[in-house]
Amino acid sequence: MQLSLWTYEGPPHVGAMRIAASMQGVHFVLHAPQGDTYADLLFTMIERRDSRPPVTYTTFQARDLGGSTADGFKTACRNAVERFRPDLLLVGASCTAELLQDDPGGLARTLELDIPVVPLDLPSYQKKETWGAAETFYRLVRACAGSAPRQGTPPRASCNLLGPTALGFRNRDDVREIAALLAANGLDVRVIAPLGARPQDLARLPEAAFNIVLYPEIADTAARWLQRTHGMPFVSTSPIGVGGTRDFLREVRAMAGLDADAVASGPDRLSWYSRSIDSTYLTGKRVFIFGDATHAIAAARVASRELGFQVCGLGTYMREFARDVREAAAGHGIEALISDDHLEVEAAILEARPELVLGTQMERHIAKRLRVPCAVISAPVHVQDFPARYSPQMGFEGANVLFDSWVHPLMMGLEEHLLGMFRDDFEFNDQAAPSHLGSAKAAGPETTLPAGSAALPHVDDRMKVATGQAAGDATGTAPLAAPAAGSPIAVAQDPVLALWTADAERELKKVPFFVRGKARRNTEHFAAANGIHPITVETLYDAKAHFAR
Ligand code: SF4
Repeated sequence: MQLSLWTYEGPPHVGAMRIAASMQGVHFVLHAPQGDTYADLLFTMIERRDSRPPVTYTTFQARDLGGSTADGFKTACRNAVERFRPDLLLVGASCTAELLQDDPGGLARTLELDIPVVPLDLPSYQKKETWGAAETFYRLVRACAGSAPRQGTPPRASCNLLGPTALGFRNRDDVREIAALLAANGLDVRVIAPLGARPQDLARLPEAAFNIVLYPEIADTAARWLQRTHGMPFVSTSPIGVGGTRDFLREVRAMAGLDADAVASGPDRLSWYSRSIDSTYLTGKRVFIFGDATHAIAAARVASRELGFQVCGLGTYMREFARDVREAAAGHGIEALISDDHLEVEAAILEARPELVLGTQMERHIAKRLRVPCAVISAPVHVQDFPARYSPQMGFEGANVLFDSWVHPLMMGLEEHLLGMFRDDFEFNDQAAPSHLGSAKAAGPETTLPAGSAALPHVDDRMKVATGQAAGDATGTAPLAAPAAGSPIAVAQDPVLALWTADAERELKKVPFFVRGKARRNTEHFAAANGIHPITVETLYDAKAHFAR
């Protein structure tokens, strides 16, 4: 186990809480120390739910360890059933309680409750949150659907939607989008689970002909069990992006016995927008992608096939899906990054020098510090990624949302293009103060920061320093401290750090912004290969001539 300030996933009991909080009529009794109630905030603060998750914590304290924590657990179960009247009780232990070896399942059985009790075995020191959610959903499906053979043959065009959960990235809106698309394509969606389902709905799962696994990270285990036990096939093609959605609908229609080519589509604006003149400026942009498996793989496909970006990095924090992500990365000609260490991800981003980052909340922080445009595509996410408005990621409307959220951060760069054209203008030159600040004093070569503010150097300077190119840091991880309030900004002026002469930097700025990054990279590679330091105007043109040959 590693102590970390940031983590992509919580312990497995948080995954179990996500399933309990997704469903109706389920209550979870968690044997846990007092501090574990923090997990409520994930749902009430991050997801902005209007009620606490359906969880009772035993909240034992240090002084309780001298007595019987098992009695405390049994009392908590009895009180929870009496107070919340659930249809089904989940019981399990958090990391610290696991060490007490109280056996929540065995203890709950001795209570002889008149509702089903599903015990969870959550190995906190080996597994993580998403595994905990998948395991909990699988246990619930097994317990509720049972293994008795199905009665009769379900209609071929009937299906279930499996996988959406609380705290899932845009799951609520994806379900609405996909359910509507399936209905428009002649499919009868019987059960959507776990989000919004009751235990009785899980019992009805075998009444449909097949399952659709929207999020394999959560529902793959349950879908495979339903296939083995009830002979239900499943589709797990991800309906993300226009191409992905069409493939998904074709596959679903074929499984339902309908004409696979007669797909009823939706309002696709991404395809035309991505061919429009504004978007062609963005062709070939380098994009670094990191997230869970479903969203990361789909984002790479959409980025390269539908928006014309170049995928320069692809990875996941989910080791269980490493193989799928490796395969996808190989298809883009790169090696996948499989890591749950955000510092390793940050180093990979610096090395890849992307012009856009698509990732989780962690990568959003990293990209923000590096001043690289970014968009969130995957859990874990923060409060702003649970918008009040309809904002799916899946289906045709989801593709439109992807276009807006990925392309617009880059389009802001077009303003930079105009600034380049008017760089010598009295109002827009490098020393001019921002025009919206009215009479603000123009910045000189050294600017004093107002108290309480922090400034970061230009992204390219930061990447140079952070990768150690300029500072000569062999580890490539030299941290960049923002200048203290009131101190002069000196990063760009430091002759020791400067890889480029001031003249060469000025000349580089004449290159249109959308090729400037490439010009900078090519020149630096040329300079490194030929042992040239610093880069002068002459080096810039020598490199141009070299790469033009
Ligand atoms: S039991 Fe586990 S999740 Fe809970 S506070 Fe302790 S370390 Fe954190």
